[in-house]
Amino acid sequence: MILKQTHISIVIPLLNEDGNVMVLYKSLLPVVEKISTDYEIIFVDDGSKDNSFDIINEICSQNERVLGISLSRNFGHQIALAAGMEHSSGEVVVTLDADMQHPPEIILDLYKKYTEGYDIVNTIRTETADSGAFKKISSRYFYKIINKLSDIHIEPSSADFRLMNRKTVNAFLQLKEKDRFTRGLISWMGFKQAQVEYTSPNRFSGKTKYSIFKMFRFAADGITSFSAKPLRISFFAGLIVSFAGLLYAIYAVIQYFGGKTIPGWTSILVSVLIIGGIQLISIGIIGEYLARVFNEAKNRPMYLVKQYSSGRLGDDSGSVLFRK
Ligand code: UDP
Ligand code: MG
Repeated sequence: MILKQTHISIVIPLLNEDGNVMVLYKSLLPVVEKISTDYEIIFVDDGSKDNSFDIINEICSQNERVLGISLSRNFGHQIALAAGMEHSSGEVVVTLDADMQHPPEIILDLYKKYTEGYDIVNTIRTETADSGAFKKISSRYFYKIINKLSDIHIEPSSADFRLMNRKTVNAFLQLKEKDRFTRGLISWMGFKQAQVEYTSPNRFSGKTKYSIFKMFRFAADGITSFSAKPLRISFFAGLIVSFAGLLYAIYAVIQYFGGKTIPGWTSILVSVLIIGGIQLISIGIIGEYLARVFNEAKNRPMYLVKQYSSGRLGDDSGSVLFRK
């Protein structure tokens, strides 16, 4: 058994991608082999309910440099990414999606930047063929908001398609938070970073795994992980509304003594609705932060592994042959 470090690890998180896994593997292999024959490919099955893991098993039985990790349930794309990176041993680690929206050939461009001396090479999509108007607009505003609210800067249209060297992967794995927003963490980390542009083709098969609900959670994680400004904004909104309320109260008392009081249905309704709305939003914002504190305080592991698949050892111990 050769216990040595691999040169390049490819980490692929996936959920219900049985229509894509084999196609991706076949187009990835020649690209990776161009870089080094000393590679490993790690598929992280994030609780798929389809045949994805059977296909991964098949690939593992053909190629001992492939490792399959099946998580015990769906933990989410961002955690699956971290799980794959934790199991990687490469001097260089590349993460990409399983749906062919991150074209494998681009890895050669990422690698070129790495050889020029960059620690992290990010990607920016210049165009996404199949994303609808809603996704485009919501994504644009999301990055505007997050860049305004937080101290970190994230390039709009950045993707979780990136190359990192061992030093930065190890640094990244020290960031143990459970509600993870990888793009923000990478920006927060610093080091010498570069960007490569690419055009994202349509998904090869299946539908997006990011429902509207998951996108909102992702956006909330992005904002709350890097900024306490929403809490401060709700405080200032409270101050402004209270001040306006005070002025209006003075006016109402003067009107009362002038004997000019009127039934005032509209003014009461409007003020109750506005104040009620601001209160509920503020409580909601506090709740978002509290939920994150709660989640961290439980200190559970980020993910659990159900099963490994590896042709390397012929069992399911998942030992990574090339581990340092
Ligand atoms: N994914 C995952 N777990 C999830 C959701 C998504 O591992 O809970 C994977 C998915 O299989 C794909 C990648 O994350 O490989 C990106 O997801 P998707 O392509 O659906 O997102 P989109 O490109 O539409 O933003
Ligand atoms: Mg996709």
